[in-house]
Amino acid sequence: MLPVETSASVGLPPPPLRRRITILGVAIDAVTEAEAVARIAALLEAGGVHQICTVNPEFVIEAGRNPEFAAVLARATLCTPDGVGLLLAARYLGQPLRGRVTGVELTRRLAALAAQRGYRIFLLGAAPGVAEAAAQVLAREAPGLLVAGCYAGSPTPRHEPFLQQMIRAARPDILLVAYGHPRQDLWIARNQERLGVPIAIGVGGTFDYLAGTVPRAPRWLRRLGLEWLHRLAHQPQRLPRIIDAVPRFIWHVLKKNRRTGEQRNRRAEEQKSRGTEKQKNVAT
Ligand code: UDP
Repeated sequence: MLPVETSASVGLPPPPLRRRITILGVAIDAVTEAEAVARIAALLEAGGVHQICTVNPEFVIEAGRNPEFAAVLARATLCTPDGVGLLLAARYLGQPLRGRVTGVELTRRLAALAAQRGYRIFLLGAAPGVAEAAAQVLAREAPGLLVAGCYAGSPTPRHEPFLQQMIRAARPDILLVAYGHPRQDLWIARNQERLGVPIAIGVGGTFDYLAGTVPRAPRWLRRLGLEWLHRLAHQPQRLPRIIDAVPRFIWHVLKKNRRTGEQRNRRAEEQKSRGTEKQKNVAT
């Protein structure tokens, strides 16, 4: 069973002390996996309704094109950094993040937390049968896990009344939604208040990885930041998305840094010339 992290066990300050890094206009919380789980544990204790987004470079590019999605990310209680690309970009922009929080690991750790504290978990999305298979894997890893429900469903708005009714009746504390971004995050934003679920998280392809329907890249490839290469080999239809996640993202980050550098230089020049002016005035 995975260890359950709490604010106290990871030596975390209470949740209000958050550090956020902005990459191309998207604010991301500088948290490790353990800290993300500790925050979520604290939110569950404190009450209220909270949306969590697992942000990767594709999210950032999509947010630049889709203001509705950008607004959802901006309003989320927690945006975790999912993707080596974000870590590298943050370091390059001079505001390093503290670690990567993948949807899969976050889900596994949350299942451990839920099993220990008696929270009910609901898995929504992915192809029929995949959520159930993922729930079985989670329940094996976290004995005693209370699975409130599993359902593939669809993110189309006309299915919302039915899904709302079903999820409300299941009374989950944590809702994991696997419809891929931006659909899953927009779906949560539209429905969470009415569902009354305290924590809802968009988890992308997590159920597929847990159930083994899509192979996950080996750890060494993930460490090198080359997970996208593995995805491309197994799911060539993802090419347009990989273009967003890798070359387009890198290009935008480099462009942004150049612009910020130019602005910094301009400000320094202006300050210098203002200083010279002052000296001249004092002299005369
Ligand atoms: N999916 C779904 N219904 C849809 C579209 C997607 O259930 O209408 C599921 C799909 O089966 C997969 C997940 O959403 O399990 C998307 O995974 P992906 O890795 O593409 O997520 P992302 O990288 O966008 O977060």
